[in-house]
Amino acid sequence: MRTSILAVGTELLFGQTVNTNASFLSENLNHMGFDVMYHFVVGDNPARLKEKLADAFADTDLVILTGGLGPTQDDLTKEMVAEYMGREMYLDTEVEEYLKGFFARRGGDMPENNMKQAYLPVGCTPFYNASGTAPGFALSVDGKTAICLPGPPREMKWLFDNGVKQYLAQFMEKKMFYRVIRTIGIGESDLEMLLMPLIDGQTDPTIATYAKEGECTLRVASQRDTDEEAEAAVNEMTERITELAGEYIYSYDDEDLNEVVVRILREKGLHITSAESCTGGLFASAITDVAGASNVLSSAYVTYSNESKTAEIGVLAETIENFGVVSPETAEAMARGALERSGADIAVSVTGYAGPEADPGHEAGEAYIGYATADKCGHYAIHTSRADRKWNRRYITLRMLRAVYLLIR
Ligand code: ATP
Repeated sequence: MRTSILAVGTELLFGQTVNTNASFLSENLNHMGFDVMYHFVVGDNPARLKEKLADAFADTDLVILTGGLGPTQDDLTKEMVAEYMGREMYLDTEVEEYLKGFFARRGGDMPENNMKQAYLPVGCTPFYNASGTAPGFALSVDGKTAICLPGPPREMKWLFDNGVKQYLAQFMEKKMFYRVIRTIGIGESDLEMLLMPLIDGQTDPTIATYAKEGECTLRVASQRDTDEEAEAAVNEMTERITELAGEYIYSYDDEDLNEVVVRILREKGLHITSAESCTGGLFASAITDVAGASNVLSSAYVTYSNESKTAEIGVLAETIENFGVVSPETAEAMARGALERSGADIAVSVTGYAGPEADPGHEAGEAYIGYATADKCGHYAIHTSRADRKWNRRYITLRMLRAVYLLIR
């Protein structure tokens, strides 16, 4: 079904608020098989709101509006939608009771202007809002449907999950199944080239690639008459993708790489330690972001200075002097030292230039990741050729996770 999203709120036009409602709705609607054709943003202005509503309905049958359902005078979305679709308003006593209870629980009377929120367009399907005050609703007239939801993202999401999704099921002629496959170690265009025999001419299942900071995501989706048929089609396509790109895949379930690494470490009963320089603890932080990290992370060293590399993890001063602090040799010595001192099963290390500056003869984004286990030691060289410190630190952390993943998978 062709769909538009119309976000209402002057703060969105001023740039004070990022339109996260539109991205949430787009993502969810796409996953459900709706074709989102347009995003509109309009300020709290009744004439322009109606104009954009007309634009949206000119080319799409479903328009989801967010914002402007509040109790104040400038909250006009509901009234404008009702007017545009030729409906009067009625007092919804269920909403009225709920609102009175809502304010009573907070120990006060309901402000008079909140009564405005208890009025809804005649013939609508209300979505009662247990997470705030403004109810949402759907209104269908002559094959066109408007769904109005409150602006606060928490309330909008709550209503979407508790009412809107169920309401939208009536428009889904086909059953949708999709899987999100995560890859690392290959760029988006190379991945697309690799999968071209599958992507070319394919209408169902569809394969979409998305690049995401240092990694690439694949979404395989099928719409069929039954859930089983859609799932079987996605499974078959997943197998074919695995044949071509299996070495880059680390999750078939939209898991983040740190989650996958912690899960495998736990499953195998392995302990890890890290020795970080330019990432300053980001690797350890990525591991501890995952619940259950205490079962797998034995210790984490942040050895920023040359002295601390020697004092804390036993890197020989000569190694640093002879090869340089940013070198494969130092990275490997850091990993070996951390492994010995911690007693962990695996150590991963990093030394590099996060940028924007680097020492003479080096460039920002040059880094070496070391790894060590009881019987293996090695390194990966990275040259991002970027001076962006934040980006480099995040990317290098991802590559550390990948180095560990390749050791344990
Ligand atoms: P309220 O009940 O708060 O009056 P409302 O439906 O009138 O809700 P708004 O007043 O438009 O909504 O916005 C309320 C809050 O939600 C504001 O803090 C605003 O920044 C945020 N918000 C509104 N629209 C969006 C959007 N599209 N994306 C993200 N946040 C939004």
